[in-house]
Amino acid sequence: MTGGTRGAKSGTTTRAKAAAAARGAGGRPLVVTDPHALRAALDELRRKGRSIAFVPTMGALHEGHLELVRHARAVAGVVVVSIFVNPTQFGPHEDLARYPRDLDGDVRLLATVPADFVLFPPVESVYPPGHATTVHVAGLGDGLCGPHRPGHFDGVATVVAKLFSMVGPCTAVFGRKDFQQLQVIRRMAADLDLPVRVVGRPTVREPDGLAMSSRNRYLSPGDRLRATALVEGLRAAAAAFGSGERDPAAIEQTIRERLAGRVDRIDYVFVGDPGTLQPWPGAVPPGRTAVAAIAAFVGTTRLIDNVELGAETI
Ligand code: AMP
Repeated sequence: MTGGTRGAKSGTTTRAKAAAAARGAGGRPLVVTDPHALRAALDELRRKGRSIAFVPTMGALHEGHLELVRHARAVAGVVVVSIFVNPTQFGPHEDLARYPRDLDGDVRLLATVPADFVLFPPVESVYPPGHATTVHVAGLGDGLCGPHRPGHFDGVATVVAKLFSMVGPCTAVFGRKDFQQLQVIRRMAADLDLPVRVVGRPTVREPDGLAMSSRNRYLSPGDRLRATALVEGLRAAAAAFGSGERDPAAIEQTIRERLAGRVDRIDYVFVGDPGTLQPWPGAVPPGRTAVAAIAAFVGTTRLIDNVELGAETI
């Protein structure tokens, strides 16, 4: 581990004092590179009765991530954030090499929440030579992003299972922005009986509605303007649903009309069952919500966004 400890401010609760004591100098989170050292420290805190909340990320943090960390802070005494750009969830022609990395900036941001621990493991400690186990969640990963990013959800499920094991029993906080990922992880945690409560939190957006994403920094000013087509499509879908439209094909067409001429390529527009991520054979069943989800390229940047129609405002 790196970093020292910091005394707690007077007047804070015992829980907050214990968390603050775990933090590094100046209130910065303690950066831990060794997963076993983290697990030992967290086991010790759990023995003392502390609850743990965990936010897995790939870094290049923005306000969307910080909202998850704030929620983690609100529900548990000790907050752990992982920063790991997981190579196994990137395809051979994807942006692994250029994915933004800024540990110092991330740690500075996390000190403002604050988080207590940052798990920043080297790739070889997550995937030591000889590693041979992959977690595959059948069904939920097959549609939407699945066909466009072969192997992606296996990479996600595998690394998240490993991160859950490194952290141990906890509440894990994810963003609904990656809605399919959230459903895959919920299923994986339930199926593997992992001692983790998975929580999904609302998508944090820029003032013009664009969903925050580490990848938004790839966008040129012109692309940034065009990128709002996604949220405009979802808003049109929400308006149609609100007016009683229940034909998924009609809602998808409404979205496509908003994307036309503004994005460079559409991977998918999907309206279907938020639980199974399958389309319905006909109309949205009475009383049910529907997820509307988009993946599209603006320039060379692949953006995703979604809204749960009938459950979320956008
Ligand atoms: P990433 O670093 O992109 O892998 O994302 C880490 C976590 O942050 C995931 O649970 C994401 O769903 C979540 N996240 C990313 N962007 C947002 C956002 N705009 N609002 C809420 N959560 C987000």
